[in-house]
Amino acid sequence: MDLRAVRGDITQADVDVIVNAANPGLLGGGGVDGAIHAAGGPEILAECRTIVARLPGGRLPRGQAVATTAGRLPARWVVHTAGPIWSATRDLSPVLRSCYSESLRVADGLGARTVAFPAISAGVYGWPLEDAARQAVAGVRAASVEHVREVRFVLFSDEALAAFEAALSD
Ligand code: ADP
Repeated sequence: MDLRAVRGDITQADVDVIVNAANPGLLGGGGVDGAIHAAGGPEILAECRTIVARLPGGRLPRGQAVATTAGRLPARWVVHTAGPIWSATRDLSPVLRSCYSESLRVADGLGARTVAFPAISAGVYGWPLEDAARQAVAGVRAASVEHVREVRFVLFSDEALAAFEAALSD
C-alpha cells in the first residue's frame, strides 16, 4: 500500500472510497460528515437510515465501519466509521486505530483500490492532532488488504497536513 497525505476537501477526492468521520447514529452532523452529506445528496443518508435501523440499539459501535453509496460524489462508495471522543483519562487509541483498519477492511471487501481518509476524531471529537495522525498511520499499516493499493489522507488544514506528513515519515 502506498500512503500519502494531501491538503484538500475529501468530498472532491477522486478515489473509489472516501471514509466519513461519522457518529454512531449515522444521521449526519457537522464537520466532514455534514460536508459529505451536503455534497453527496440525500441517497447517502437514506442508506445510512436503513443500515442503522438494522444495527443493535440503532447505533454503529465506535471503531466499526459500514459502506453506502457515494451518491453524487466522485467516489464510488462512502465508508462510515464513528471515531472515539478524546479522553484524557482513558486510552481509546485502539478504537481510533480500529476506525482505520476496519474502514480499510470494508473498502477492500468492496474491491476498492484507492481510499481517502479524513483526520478521524481530530475535529469536534477533540483528539490532539499529532496523536490522531500517529494512530491513523498505525491503523492503516495494521490492516491487511487484497485490493487497496493507495491510501490518501485528505487534510483540511496546513496544520493537519503537517501532522500527517510527520507521522508518515516516522
Ligand atoms: P470528528 O467528530 O470525528 O472529530 P470532524 O468532522 O469534526 O470529525 O473533524 C474531523 C476532521 O475533518 C477535522 O480535522 C476537520 O478539520 C476535517 N474536515 C472537515 N471538513 C472536511 C472536508 N470537507 N474534507 C476533509 N476534511 C475535513
